[in-house]
Amino acid sequence: MARFRMYPTGEQAGVMLGHCAHARYVWNLAVEQHAHWYRGRGTAPGFAEQCRQLTEARRDNAWLRAGNADVQQQALKDFAQAKNARFASGFGEPTWRRKHVHEGFRVIGTDRVPEFEADGSPKLNAKTGKQVMGRSVVVQKLNRRWARVKVPGCGWVRFRLSRNGKGSQLPKAKTFRVTFRNGRWHIAFAVVPVPVEGPGTGEVIGIDRGVKITAALSDGRNLNCPQLTVRERARIRKHQRRAARAPKGSERKSTEYARAARLRAREADRRRDWCEKTSTMLARGYDLVRFEKLSIKNMTRSARGTVAEPGRKVAQKAGLNRVILAQGWGLLRQRTGHKAPGRVEDVPAPYTSLRCSVCGWIDKNSRKSQAEFVCSSCGFTCNADTNAANNVAAGQGGIPRPRRTAGAGGVTTATGRSNTREPQPGRVGIPLFSSSK
Ligand SMILES: [Zn+2]
Repeated sequence: MARFRMYPTGEQAGVMLGHCAHARYVWNLAVEQHAHWYRGRGTAPGFAEQCRQLTEARRDNAWLRAGNADVQQQALKDFAQAKNARFASGFGEPTWRRKHVHEGFRVIGTDRVPEFEADGSPKLNAKTGKQVMGRSVVVQKLNRRWARVKVPGCGWVRFRLSRNGKGSQLPKAKTFRVTFRNGRWHIAFAVVPVPVEGPGTGEVIGIDRGVKITAALSDGRNLNCPQLTVRERARIRKHQRRAARAPKGSERKSTEYARAARLRAREADRRRDWCEKTSTMLARGYDLVRFEKLSIKNMTRSARGTVAEPGRKVAQKAGLNRVILAQGWGLLRQRTGHKAPGRVEDVPAPYTSLRCSVCGWIDKNSRKSQAEFVCSSCGFTCNADTNAANNVAAGQGGIPRPRRTAGAGGVTTATGRSNTREPQPGRVGIPLFSSSK
């Protein structure tokens, strides 16, 4: 994916916000349609059927008709893709899109270009034998720094060519997606990135992702994702507080929210930058990259509970969730996968942080503290995160687990708690934001 910052004029931004609203509306209709499905009720309408229904709905509904048909149809296409990928994508079932949160739309290129087979010969229609023409996005380079793209209803919209080197060439894509987040517009072209060559030495690296240390590598390096400074976090809180106290609908309220959003965008930028650099380093430096298998979605599940049965320690869990998401674990894994296709593995790794990477003994007592690991069986001493990363690097087969310690082992006195639960940080590094947002 190639992503650039977009600079629409005020008028263009207004039209594009309208596109966002239409795309969101159509997407949410599709979500609702599929939510009514239950076992034994025939199949929910697919993409083709939904497109037909959209045409009908546009005929009866003036507001819908006012929107761009391509934008609405592409929202259905996005939905169909999200639905198909729901088991593999990690995002699960497609869910509701919210105003101000999920603002974006997809545009299909209007240019027609001949398509080619993988071997370079022209792609021909099987029936007619005619050249197959594919869609292509209309982009123009203005100069070294700027280019422009055709967006329906807006004419040419400028975007900044922010990459140097080979990235500064114009991206060739069939579609692009426009997003509006934290007060900024971006354009993302759907292009498959060129894979990064590995060193060819067969070197394997294991990565253990944690809250204290974002990524501990099995070669002993500890990498940390940059976070906002304490002062920046205090400034976000200040603007949120001022916005909350400003009268509803006032100019000041939106200004204060915009200031908070700008700081949050800065945090996201730093995280993205770090993930890009780190994933390139991993893809370039190692032939096989092993991540421990995490279910970030399950780990960051809310503790809120229900109205009837409220959960315990809700604010603490919300704070921990925020810290986990601030680490960019998912993005690091995803981008490494893009850059080193076929060279990244997810290792299911229970007890990675409690298992000795030399003898395989699993014992809570081996983990002396957050940072120190001393095996209670063989006495192997190591940094706890490096030990965990070593376990991940060993892969799924890894070190055989001693027989008699299958499950939890060692000599721990019986307590109510599981003795394979790793020690938790007493206090995570980032102070909580105000929990009402
Ligand atoms: Zn040991």
